[in-house]
Amino acid sequence: MFIGIYNSMSVPAFKRSRSKVRRVRSHDALKKTKLSVCPNCKSAILPHHICANCGTYKTRVVMKTKTDKKAAQKTKKENKEKAAQKKTAAK
Ligand SMILES: [Zn+2]
Repeated sequence: MFIGIYNSMSVPAFKRSRSKVRRVRSHDALKKTKLSVCPNCKSAILPHHICANCGTYKTRVVMKTKTDKKAAQKTKKENKEKAAQKKTAAK
């Protein structure tokens, strides 16, 4: 029985010509991403995507953005503090 490192990788039979390599690589170039403008906040967005800045799609609010969530948390905290102050004032 054979014990040891066995190289099972195949080796190409012919050298790839310069033209063949270049023909294959002719489709590898990266294309410039085309951007559109958000109708709500005028920031650059990918076409057919939700705006990450304001969370709208075709002028409809679709999702909450990070800033919205932070603002909601702030108001929650403020409301809690106000409630606590009211309780202490009542006592
Ligand atoms: Zn937007």
